[in-house]
Amino acid sequence: MLQKRSFKKIYKNYLEFFAADHCVLKCWQCANFSNVNYPKIAKLATFCKDLKTLAKIMHVETLRFCGGEPLLNNEIVKFIKVAREINFAYTIGLCTNGILLKDVDDELFSQIDYLNVSLYPLSNYRNLKIERDSIIKIAKIKRKKYKFFLKFFEFYCFKPWRYSYVDLPINNSPLVKRIYAACSRAKNCHTIYDGYYYKCAMPIYLRRYLINMQISSKNILNYEKIDGVPLHQPDLYNRLITYLNSDVPLKACNYCLGTSGKNMRIKQVSMKELKDSKTKKINMIEDLLDISKLRESEKNASVARSRSLKQMGILKKINKGIDKDALIRTVGLRDVDSF
Ligand code: SF4
Ligand code: SF4
Repeated sequence: MLQKRSFKKIYKNYLEFFAADHCVLKCWQCANFSNVNYPKIAKLATFCKDLKTLAKIMHVETLRFCGGEPLLNNEIVKFIKVAREINFAYTIGLCTNGILLKDVDDELFSQIDYLNVSLYPLSNYRNLKIERDSIIKIAKIKRKKYKFFLKFFEFYCFKPWRYSYVDLPINNSPLVKRIYAACSRAKNCHTIYDGYYYKCAMPIYLRRYLINMQISSKNILNYEKIDGVPLHQPDLYNRLITYLNSDVPLKACNYCLGTSGKNMRIKQVSMKELKDSKTKKINMIEDLLDISKLRESEKNASVARSRSLKQMGILKKINKGIDKDALIRTVGLRDVDSF
C-alpha cells in the first residue's frame, strides 16, 4: 500500500499514535506509564483534526498505532482509515502485546501494512487466561491470509527491558543534557496527542504519574503544555522546525533515563500496588542509570550524525523537489536512509 511521496514538507521516518493510554498488561517502568495510567481511549475526532493539521506540513514514512494497548480502542480501524484518507504516511502499522488479537475483527488485518507483536516472559500472562503460543499462532494465521508484514519482539526477563524514569528530579543539568542527546526516543518516538506534537510520551503522562505517586508535589510542571508544540496555532511549520532542532532537553527529561537506564527484570506492577507498598521504593538516578550504555549511545549518536551529514551532501544534489532547508535543519534528528 505504498503511497505517492510529497515533498516540500518536513519529512520524518516514523510517527506513533497512542490509541489507548492504558493496557491489559502492567509492565513496571513501561515507557508510556501504561501500567499506571487510568483508562483513556483516544478520540477519533481529535485524531482526525490533529492529523489533518500536521499533514499540511509533515509527511512520514510510517505511522504506527500503539499505546498502551491499541486494541482496547474499538474504533482502531476507523483511525487507520482516517490516516489513509489523509495520506499522511506511506505505510501504516500497529504494535500490540497480542493478548486481544483473538477478539479483533478481520477488517483490521486487511487495513495494516505491518503488525508488531511484543512477547513477554510467560509469567506476564498469568491470570489473563491466554497462552503465549496462541498469540503467535493467531498472528501467523492472519498474516498468511492478509499478507501484512509481521514481526515479533521478544522481551526476556532482563534484556532488553530497561528502567525508563526516576521518581525524583535529576539535579544535574549536564547529565540531563547528555541523557537527552543520547536518547533514541527523542529522535524516533515522536507522537501527537490531544492537539500537541511531542518528542516522546514522557511529557504527556509524567505529571499524572508524579501526582499519583505522591512522592513530592514540589516543582511538578505542566509538561503536557511546556514540552509539546500546539498544533492549531499559526506558523506551525516554523515552530515545529525549531522544536525538532532544539538541543535543549525537555522539562520532563529531568525525571527520565531516556534509553540509558539499567537492564531490569520485567514484572507486572499496577499503580495500586506501587502506592500500597509499605516499603515504597523511590527510584533514584544513581541506582538506575547505565553509564556505559549512555557512553555507547553518545558515540553512536555522533557517528549517525556524521553519516547523515555526508548523505545530505549527496541528497542535496539529487532531490530537487525536496525542501532542502528543512532537511538540513532537521539533519541528525532522523534517519535519511529512506530517501
Ligand atoms: S505491554 Fe507492557 S510495555 Fe507494552 S504498553 Fe502494555 S504495559 Fe506498557
Ligand atoms: S523525556 Fe527526554 S530523555 Fe526521556 S524519553 Fe523523552 S526526550 Fe528522551
